[in-house]
Amino acid sequence: MGKTDIAVIGAGLAGLSAARQLAEAGHAVNVFDKGRSVGGRLATRHTDAGDFDHGALEVHPKSDGFRKLCGQLVQAGSAIEMTKSRSFVGKPGMSDFVKPIAMGLDVRTEVRIDKVQRDADGWWLSAGDETFGPFATVISTIPAPQAAELLGEYLDDAGALNRVEMAPVWTLMAAWDQLPMILPDPNVFSRLTWSSDRPGREDKPLLVAHSRPEWTRAQLEIERVDASARLIAALSAPEPLFAEAHRWRFAWAEEPLGRPFLTGADGLFVGGDWTLGDTADHAWQSANAMARAVMEQSFPKAV
Ligand SMILES: Cc1cc2nc3c(=O)[nH]c(=O)nc-3n(C[C@H](O)[C@H](O)[C@H](O)COP(=O)(O)OP(=O)(O)OC[C@H]3O[C@@H](n4cnc5c(N)ncnc54)[C@H](O)[C@@H]3O)c2cc1C
Repeated sequence: MGKTDIAVIGAGLAGLSAARQLAEAGHAVNVFDKGRSVGGRLATRHTDAGDFDHGALEVHPKSDGFRKLCGQLVQAGSAIEMTKSRSFVGKPGMSDFVKPIAMGLDVRTEVRIDKVQRDADGWWLSAGDETFGPFATVISTIPAPQAAELLGEYLDDAGALNRVEMAPVWTLMAAWDQLPMILPDPNVFSRLTWSSDRPGREDKPLLVAHSRPEWTRAQLEIERVDASARLIAALSAPEPLFAEAHRWRFAWAEEPLGRPFLTGADGLFVGGDWTLGDTADHAWQSANAMARAVMEQSFPKAV
């Protein structure tokens, strides 16, 4: 096989990292994401009250490759290192972290891939009335339950995908005019962070509070406005000037796959953070492994 056309589904850290490596190796790569911008769960919500990093709050590199990437992103101006904790935040927001990785790539946002089909010409991706393809290779980096739905029929081991469990989280974003007294219920919240305690953020009383997965499961299907009200009540806080809740149906893996990706019918690779664990480093490791496997498939080493 020669150089191939590759479709990457998902423009989070994993999808962009895989796409960047493959584009740099000379492949033609198209990235698709349903979101309005890149970053996935490395996310920032811009509001009139201020900016909230409502997904991952920071990343902790464990692997050498991801540590190297974090260093490059600091150089590129999209990340800040917190030397004490040896972790990194996006600059100015978490969604900016990946932006240099996306630069120069063919990334189409607001495209939700809802069907993937294969015929003699290759892979075809559909989003509503639009169809893209044919592609020789498809790399998916969407959360495991969504990948099971979209791609399960093509996977060699779809059962393994169904065994991956991902935790849901409600995230509260709230603002006050001055730092309020709060008394968070430890049964409800797993983490609370004030913007003013984070490097490069506004010095304002902006709070991001993540709920515990077990609490979230019991109220997963409620309306956002009700989730927001319940979370504020669980803070025992005065009424905020601004409050909004975001539901992460698949925040992180509680039961990961245990290997960096799954393969399927000719040229299909399915990965993301949930393959190896619950962090951005795991997302990068999965992406790196998929990119290497695609390159190996395209240019097999001589035996
Ligand atoms: C609340 C919360 C807190 C977290 N805290 C931390 C932390 O402190 N440290 C840490 O390292 N990690 C943390 N994480 C996890 C971290 O955010 C993820 O591990 C990492 O961002 C996953 O990257 P990814 O590229 O694998 O997946 P994602 O970022 O989820 O990217 C997948 C992309 O696929 C897109 N997509 C989905 N379906 C489709 C479709 N059908 N068509 C097109 N596009 C689609 C999505 O829009 C998304 O952009 C946290 C996550 C959450 C939600």
